[in-house]
Amino acid sequence: MAQNPSNKPDAKQQPVQENVEVNALFLGPKSENRDYFKNTLSFLMDEHMHWRRDFHPEDRNVMDLKEMRSEHFQATLDRTTDVLLDLSAKLKKTSMPWFSARYLGHMNSDTLMVANLAYMMTMLYNPNNCAYEASTVTTPMEIEAGKDMATMLGFPTESSWGHITTDGTVANYEGLWMARNLKSFPLAVKKVRPDLVKGMDDWALLNMPVKMVLDLVDTVKKAGVFDDVRNETVRANGVGEGTLGVVLIPQSKHYSWVKAADVLGIGNKHFIEVQVNENFHMDITILKKIIDDQISKKIPIIALVAVVGTTEEGSIDEIATIAKLKEDYEKKGISFYFHVDAAYGGYSRSMFLDENSRFMEYDELKKRLISDGIFVNPTDGPTKEIYESYKAIPKADSITIDPHKMGYIPYAAGGIVVKDRRILDLISYLASYFYEKGEDTPALLGSYILEGSKAGATAAAVWASHRVIPLNITGYGQIIGRSIEGAQIFTNELKTVKSIKVAGREFVVEPLTINPDFNIVCMAFNEKGNTDLEKMNKLNDIIFQESSYVDGPVYLNDWITSQTELKTVDYGDAPKSFVGRLGIPGNEWDRVKSVMVLRLCILNPFISHYDNIETTWKNYLEIMKGKIEVAITQMN
Ligand SMILES: *Cc1c(COP(=O)(O)O)cnc(C)c1O
Repeated sequence: MAQNPSNKPDAKQQPVQENVEVNALFLGPKSENRDYFKNTLSFLMDEHMHWRRDFHPEDRNVMDLKEMRSEHFQATLDRTTDVLLDLSAKLKKTSMPWFSARYLGHMNSDTLMVANLAYMMTMLYNPNNCAYEASTVTTPMEIEAGKDMATMLGFPTESSWGHITTDGTVANYEGLWMARNLKSFPLAVKKVRPDLVKGMDDWALLNMPVKMVLDLVDTVKKAGVFDDVRNETVRANGVGEGTLGVVLIPQSKHYSWVKAADVLGIGNKHFIEVQVNENFHMDITILKKIIDDQISKKIPIIALVAVVGTTEEGSIDEIATIAKLKEDYEKKGISFYFHVDAAYGGYSRSMFLDENSRFMEYDELKKRLISDGIFVNPTDGPTKEIYESYKAIPKADSITIDPHKMGYIPYAAGGIVVKDRRILDLISYLASYFYEKGEDTPALLGSYILEGSKAGATAAAVWASHRVIPLNITGYGQIIGRSIEGAQIFTNELKTVKSIKVAGREFVVEPLTINPDFNIVCMAFNEKGNTDLEKMNKLNDIIFQESSYVDGPVYLNDWITSQTELKTVDYGDAPKSFVGRLGIPGNEWDRVKSVMVLRLCILNPFISHYDNIETTWKNYLEIMKGKIEVAITQMN
């Protein structure tokens, strides 16, 4: 182990960290770490059983041995065994083998041993993070895991806050909930204490910068009318038709946002989707046009949402440019809440941080990605543009981040972090503000969040994983970097082969975007010379069916992937240049308006560092040839 060179403890300087060994973190595709896993699990189970017995050892057993040997008792145990074995058989038959390099489909991979062990152990104690009383160990862990995520995402540790949600969907609800309530606060102040917002008209009140609103919250508290004001906000009066304004979001959004607009009463009509470009990034020129258009109609903007790691393409919005645009508008008196949906891409910010959570310089980062053995190929790794986007993430007011995606944690673990935790008072249902009392852990977490009762085991799993795997280049950066390189290798190979021959016919293949921003590769095949998009879609649909649960049983599949359909109604003409590269004319796209792509989320960290990359790739290629062969016979 590396030692801290100085013996004196230094608050700023953390001990030198050794890079984690990725292979030691997972059970492994062939259960390579089974001995460690089983022994540790068994020990932890013993610990729990002793804990039960040691609680008032003088208390007598409830069950005596004679009774436990009785037929009736055994019959119940037998029934339990039967059901569990049945469940096991069911699971083995059709479950997805996430751990295997043959699985390149949805956002799944092997999960961390530490997370699984922490979860199983904690589950036996059954803590409920709704209330501290029921989760004395795991509520503080949830708050600490929230701090870890906030620090990784670049928020100031003292003022920010974060916690674990069921999933990214709930985190997005929470983000929009805060944005909505914040927007309505200044108007409520005007109703209750107009003197506190003297000289500001409604337009100015609806365009108050986030920090100013939160300062106003402080002022209102000092004036002793906070509860009165809060009772005049949207949470008491409801959302009037379009009165608070609109939410702007790229077309590439996750569908949870559409539900959020519905649930929070904002309404889908007030949800404006911004066209994405051929890289599936929110088009900044169009975004600006939409904002100007809203301003000219005197419609306020509640929030702008950008995405880091879109669900279908893994694309990363140009956060730095978007943040700059927001600042420019703020100077002109137009202000709105800024949320970054990094449910998928959030954990990758760890790769950009050194041991002290410092965001590295670009050249420094590129060097370290190679010297630390994260990337094998020096030309792989983030572009300057992607780098700038990650750097600018802390310009957001809040961020969604899912531990159960790139955190390699088992379900269900989402998360949200907010830059200025004073905003919690706008959604909370308690009059006491826990952090004002210098406390970090709320007595009733359930009153500051969307959910109520929730598994403390999840918090323990996330917390423990963060302790083993630092949220920087020495930890999560090691795992995620490999996954990104896996996607880059795949894309490079696709670009190199260009086409494959099957049964005397030639099939071209193209990645959806020339270079993936992250670790998702979408792609499609087309027979060379074919200009019929419906036929091309059929080909890729059959390849998917042959590589998925559809034509099960999955356990016998040699390769498993996912698919997605990119349609004009969702994406405008963003996919047009892609189908063009495959030989489909523009007017054919205009006619069919939809393209089927194979979608490979390459979370698996065991692809890029295999010695036999070539072989692996050739295997994939051979497998795909087999699928095309099936498609040919089916389509004839
Ligand atoms: C996955 C995802 C979500 C939703 O997260 P769940 O955990 O599946 O609810 C939201 N936004 C983006 C960008 C996602 O990729």
